Amino acid sequence: MKYIDAHAHLVHDHQGFHELADSGVYDEIWLMDLDGINLSGIQLATSDEVLAAVKAHPGVVYAYGYLDFSKGVDEIDRLKERGFIGLKPYKPDTHWNDEKFYPFYERAQELNMPMLFHTGMAVRVESYNTRTRNSCGYGPSGMRPSYLAGIGEAFPQLRIIGGHLGYPWFEETVHNLYYCRNIVHDISGYRHYEMLGELFRSLDRAANEGSNRMFHEKLFFATDQFYGLKEENERSLKLKEFWTLFFDLIGSVYHRWGKPEEAEKFFYHNAHNFRLDAESGR
Ligand SMILES: [Zn+2]
Repeated sequence: MKYIDAHAHLVHDHQGFHELADSGVYDEIWLMDLDGINLSGIQLATSDEVLAAVKAHPGVVYAYGYLDFSKGVDEIDRLKERGFIGLKPYKPDTHWNDEKFYPFYERAQELNMPMLFHTGMAVRVESYNTRTRNSCGYGPSGMRPSYLAGIGEAFPQLRIIGGHLGYPWFEETVHNLYYCRNIVHDISGYRHYEMLGELFRSLDRAANEGSNRMFHEKLFFATDQFYGLKEENERSLKLKEFWTLFFDLIGSVYHRWGKPEEAEKFFYHNAHNFRLDAESGR
């Protein structure tokens, strides 16, 4: 089976990442750049460090550039020029579907730059009275999954990845997957056991409603780990094993998702085809 980790991060002065990328445990790793931001005390890699990792592992490591809205629409052109294949905004000061962001989405669509939007719960960044990043909002409500549906409607050629499954708004994620042709989601950060059952039920329900609405073709495996920290490198491998066993031992018994050809879409083909389609502008 082939695997893509479709949403991960890299830390500053990372350790063990080159070995992991060379090991072949993942056929591709997509790094989401946040350009040196500090998340819960963890210093993330600068965008130069992220791009260096891409260069060191051609055909394996790809990166989405941190889109800081305060830098203006031209930043998208610059990020593409530098070698990023997609865009990763984070914590909007209002909400994802605010029309003030539409010029950014329009340019991303023109340049075939997919966008990964965080949805749902998020780690704390900094408190209001100590904040330095004025473009950051607070809490998850500006990143509700259903905001992506509006963007998807306004920009039908923009390729949208909902990062995570939008907890605590899972129904909105289901809505996106069901109704929005250009929205997919990655499953990273998804460890509520009752929601795992909900996820499989949604897969089953979608399968009963026709092949054009099969969620199993719209979900990407991803770990959201901070690569370069020993325990995070190790947890990534555990997550890979967990989801493989989950599909195999539960998906194949009570559902149809454990069949190797179905599982491989989730672990590899969905993300792989998504990247190739964006590259070729199809
Ligand atoms: Zn992330």
